[in-house]
Amino acid sequence: MSKRNLIGGHWVSAAAFSENRNPARPEEVIGLFARGSAEDAEQAVAAAAEAFPRWAAASPQFRADTLDRAGSLILARKGELGRVLAREEGKTLAEATGEAVRAGQLFKFYAGEALRLAGEAIDSIRSGVDVEVRREPLGVIGLITPWNFPIAIPAWKAAPALAFGNTVVMKPADLTPASAHLLAEILQEAGCPPGVFNLVMGPGSVIGAALVEHPDVAAISFTGSESVGQGIAEGCARSRKKLQMEMGGKNPMVVMADADLDVAVPACINGAFFSTGQRCTASSRLIVEESIHDAFADRMHQAMSELVLGDPLEAATQIGPVASESQLCGNLGYVELARQEGAEVLGGGQLDRLGYFQAPALFLNASNEMRVSREEIFGPCASVIKAQDFEHAVALANDTEFGLSSGICTTSLRYAREFKRRSEAGMVMVNLPTAGVDYHVPFGGRKGSSVGSREQGRYAAEFYTSVKTAYTFAV
Ligand code: NAD
Repeated sequence: MSKRNLIGGHWVSAAAFSENRNPARPEEVIGLFARGSAEDAEQAVAAAAEAFPRWAAASPQFRADTLDRAGSLILARKGELGRVLAREEGKTLAEATGEAVRAGQLFKFYAGEALRLAGEAIDSIRSGVDVEVRREPLGVIGLITPWNFPIAIPAWKAAPALAFGNTVVMKPADLTPASAHLLAEILQEAGCPPGVFNLVMGPGSVIGAALVEHPDVAAISFTGSESVGQGIAEGCARSRKKLQMEMGGKNPMVVMADADLDVAVPACINGAFFSTGQRCTASSRLIVEESIHDAFADRMHQAMSELVLGDPLEAATQIGPVASESQLCGNLGYVELARQEGAEVLGGGQLDRLGYFQAPALFLNASNEMRVSREEIFGPCASVIKAQDFEHAVALANDTEFGLSSGICTTSLRYAREFKRRSEAGMVMVNLPTAGVDYHVPFGGRKGSSVGSREQGRYAAEFYTSVKTAYTFAV
């Protein structure tokens, strides 16, 4: 059945529908999803604006109960959600089910946060005057999300937005609308009042842009590419909206000579290639101390040859397809570029089978200056860059316009401590893959990777609330 948009508590049809296809079997249509218009976005914003005062004034217990029910429903339906997600995005069923679980946990976490939102009481410098600092919701929030985490990212934006009393218009990625549609169904079932959560599917340049420009949208939270983010930042500056953006990465993983390669190699394989490398936190620059470079490269080669690529729904599969044909073409273009730039390319070819499958690629003897080491590829490709020593490794790790995640594999407490302090990234991992984060602590980056305050954990309140300072003179 064709899937419609959710506007003001009603499933609303659209003038056109788009096919959602399985990247592992491109002939398989998962469903038809509404291709909304600017008018649909306009109506959704109107519904969200109308619903806002009651939702904002509702008891935090009511909001907590609604979110908690949504969390329970997501967890109860994790198998179905995981299957849909794996079919539309291409990550393995285990990863996809794990992502659905994470979405459920996020709703449960923010159910609690709805009750824990606290202000401050401060003595005034004037006698007889009290000062209170309160956190209040912003209003209608536009949420614009990417295709690579089609249930977790909508959840980690929608749950805090709703918990703190805002209403939402969500615009999911065109490539993966099914997971967000299921989330909308679940929020309805959980008893979210009409207009509190609205879903408008369709092209970003139409729906996303309409949200960015709309005067009744108070804030935009965006996750996606740098190029789209730049346009959104300009639009939000014009319409004076609060803005939060999480964008690309070129995340370094440093492997020191003292590292335990039984830890470092799996961490690099996971960080670079799992989820087909389609994670903003993927380890796309492996910075290896010269003295162990050859041993590391041999171990990586061996581990790569053992990876099982295949249909995401098969239990043995470790790496699924690339999410779309255009993404695959882009990745293959970067593999060719790596050769032209003088790297020795290991793997990286398209598999001779149906679907958008690509073998993981290592670019050996890469330099940090090559385009393949500077631009986000967003596929199963990683540069291996030699470092002379720790100082050189830190300098290389920080020599990037991005700053989302970074990692170091070492058995030295001193190197671990120094790296955590000197890394110019929002998240730093020691002896762990650069990807794979907890949901109850802040997530986000520095430099070109992020704009605005952090997502997730208690820090999400910074974005989804506004502070009011109230003075009272008790006459
Ligand atoms: P994208 O920028 O192409 O699209 C993201 C969203 O923006 C989609 O919903 C899209 O429809 C919408 N959009 C497109 N044009 C728009 C416009 N003109 N106005 C408003 N909205 C518009 O990104 P993508 O290809 O879906 O996702 C991949 C990118 O996301 C990568 O660069 C990746 O690094 C990034 N990402 C970052 C994080 C993070 O937290 N830092 C997490 C996941 C993905």
